[in-house]
Amino acid sequence: MKAFRLHDYNKPLSIDEVPEPKIDGPYDIIVKIKGAGVCRTDLHIQEGIWKGIVNPKLPFTLGHENVGIIEKKGTAVDWLDVGDQVILHPYITCRHCRACRAGNDMHCPYGKFPGLDGTDGGYAEYLKTSAFSAIKIPKGVDIIPMAPLADAGITAYHAVKKISPYLYPGSLVAIIGVGGLGHIGIQVVKAITPAKVVAIDINEEKAKLAKELNVDEIILAGKDGGISDVLKLTDNVGVDVVIDFVGEYSTPQNALRMVRKGGIYSIVGYGGEFRNPTIDFVNREIMVVGNLVGTYNELSELVNLYVQNKVKLKVQKFPLEDANRALEELKNGKIIGRGVLIP
Ligand SMILES: [Zn+2]
Ligand SMILES: [Zn+2]
Repeated sequence: MKAFRLHDYNKPLSIDEVPEPKIDGPYDIIVKIKGAGVCRTDLHIQEGIWKGIVNPKLPFTLGHENVGIIEKKGTAVDWLDVGDQVILHPYITCRHCRACRAGNDMHCPYGKFPGLDGTDGGYAEYLKTSAFSAIKIPKGVDIIPMAPLADAGITAYHAVKKISPYLYPGSLVAIIGVGGLGHIGIQVVKAITPAKVVAIDINEEKAKLAKELNVDEIILAGKDGGISDVLKLTDNVGVDVVIDFVGEYSTPQNALRMVRKGGIYSIVGYGGEFRNPTIDFVNREIMVVGNLVGTYNELSELVNLYVQNKVKLKVQKFPLEDANRALEELKNGKIIGRGVLIP
């Protein structure tokens, strides 16, 4: 089968002819890929940012936002059938450690992450994963546009759910970056919390997308990244929560200036860094929160919102052959919403 694989850092992916994956364990499933989301994390993997953290063995197939049809299943998989359409939680967990038993899938120290840690992902015709990662989608639902829910969507959902206990009617959440995750984040805040949303982006097209999503306020960020507009909007107090879907360049510094006393700076996008005097965290009691993907149950909750039409996804389809072009367009900020590769 055809697979798009990373052979060298900072180089385009190559199309390789590789053997189809085989069932090894009783809980394995082979999924015929229908759609694979194109993610900024793929760019970061290419750049080698993940090298020091998961140190993937090259070459391997990228693609961690996958939907498809079950093609084969292991002998112990009695709750799913060949032919079922599924969305795949991106992590394969051990299922017996403390984190797994608590439902904190992403904290499992023994898991595998297809498309990220050297395990083959979904930029291919077939993918092997665990049946425990699969969520069955009702027949009749078009699964292709759902692919980005598997990482972008679940991460945005997880970040919003985590801060939701701190929100009340009248709260204001600032969302920095109306990209693939940000545009989902806006909708999730609206769907599961009583807060209002101010969307901040530097790109007019993306601000327009925020408008389509009925966001309460839009700030087209200028030189100061939107700080002065946020302060104007809040009588110089700042917002209750900033969710930073960019996490690079000057956004972390800017985000900290937008948060009110006792507020939360929630980090989703990554790649950059920030410096801030410790006294500022003490004096303003700022809480800083990180977000890594989300749990299986959170993906299942998000799928429910999607099927109920409470979260909509803007997707742009590319044939699998155009994986490198899709990555390039993502890099250049040309994709509105989310790119999905179709094998
Ligand atoms: Zn992703
Ligand atoms: Zn585990």
